[in-house]
Amino acid sequence: MDKIQEMLTFIQSSPTCYQAVDTIKKELEKEGFIELNENESYHIEKGKKYFVTRNYSSILAFKVGQRLNDLNYQIVASHSDAPSFKLKPKNKKNNSGFEVINTEVYGGPIFNTWLDRLLSVAGRVLVKEENGIALKLVFIKEPVCLIPNLAIHMNRGVNEGVKLNPQIDLLPMLSKNKDFDLMDIIASNCNVNKEDILDTDLFLYPVDNGYVWGDNKEFVSVNHLDDLQCAYTTLQGFLQGGHEDTISVYCCFDNEEVGSGTKQGADSTFLMDNIKRINAGLGLNEENLQTALASSIIVSADNAHSIHPNHPEKADPTNVVSINEGIVLKYNANQSYSTDGLSAAIFREMCKDDSVKFQTFTNRSDERGGGTLGAISTSHVSILSVDIGCAQLAMHSALETAGTKDTEMMITALEKYFSSHLVRGAGYQYKIER
Ligand SMILES: [Zn+2]
Repeated sequence: MDKIQEMLTFIQSSPTCYQAVDTIKKELEKEGFIELNENESYHIEKGKKYFVTRNYSSILAFKVGQRLNDLNYQIVASHSDAPSFKLKPKNKKNNSGFEVINTEVYGGPIFNTWLDRLLSVAGRVLVKEENGIALKLVFIKEPVCLIPNLAIHMNRGVNEGVKLNPQIDLLPMLSKNKDFDLMDIIASNCNVNKEDILDTDLFLYPVDNGYVWGDNKEFVSVNHLDDLQCAYTTLQGFLQGGHEDTISVYCCFDNEEVGSGTKQGADSTFLMDNIKRINAGLGLNEENLQTALASSIIVSADNAHSIHPNHPEKADPTNVVSINEGIVLKYNANQSYSTDGLSAAIFREMCKDDSVKFQTFTNRSDERGGGTLGAISTSHVSILSVDIGCAQLAMHSALETAGTKDTEMMITALEKYFSSHLVRGAGYQYKIER
């Protein structure tokens, strides 16, 4: 299977953060990574590779070099969550004769893209067991609900732009059977008794297939390219690369779409806690840790906005990025992106390869853009940081579009990044060893 088809399989196996973590975990296990648990002591050895999850919605994997001369950490981070609708604890009945699901908005989806699309439900349930509580993943693959548009005859202004109210317009219809209970399908999907389900974390997702298309098969369209395209490509680069003097770290954090401020998000201690434990597990002291961090780097990989075919005026006049033109380096003077000249220069040199191209992105000076993981995680792990991504269209739509060439370039670039070793000399002189 080629890498693009593999990415589509990866994305379609990951409708929520829980399945994304599970998909990544399975790939790591296949590659011989050892699972650590945060509630048990870590035993870390040179030359070995490990992973750990938090809340089963964020995951961190690392490979320890064999030599560790001039030890540093080379980190990449992406996010596992995506804008969606979360199921509220109690279902809604209304007077239409249809059973509908009560939901609330998670993150910032483009509402109208969720209409007239077959939807299903995925996430996790917490189940009562003989001696406690177990976590079970739920992934219903068949469509179970839909948010229908109002017919144009009942909504004449629809093509002039219509405001959608999440409590009225966006509740999906489920059934005409008033005895129908979605929990029956959920319980059978994860093989438990409905009565044993104590609580849930369930989300809607669009069931559409992803496609590779375009004259040269240059486009890929599927949901959740933000940020599973980066989660996938950086994972491949991480698995293929490696250097005997570094500790390579791969993170995929939950809750980026809602500001990262949870116990498992980028604005938590998850990354720093684990770096400290790796350091201690290797028998190193605090001074060793600070020395290592002073020559470490984190790459925050989250998708970027391609120039739009019908709205080129929305892009900055000079820092225009487009699909399949290379890895996007994101800059912002006010540091909503963490990139600076130094981190960008180092990252470009680390990823150097004939097949890898770069492009630079800034927002228009009169537009406020989004923030991402880099600036947030450097407030906990204060090291060199660069914000990158693949250019894509329609970010936060139920169907997003990106480039196949960019996908391949990201994998190569990250493999180069992890196969090089950043060494800091006197002052701000840096050397990149291969
Ligand atoms: Zn994102």
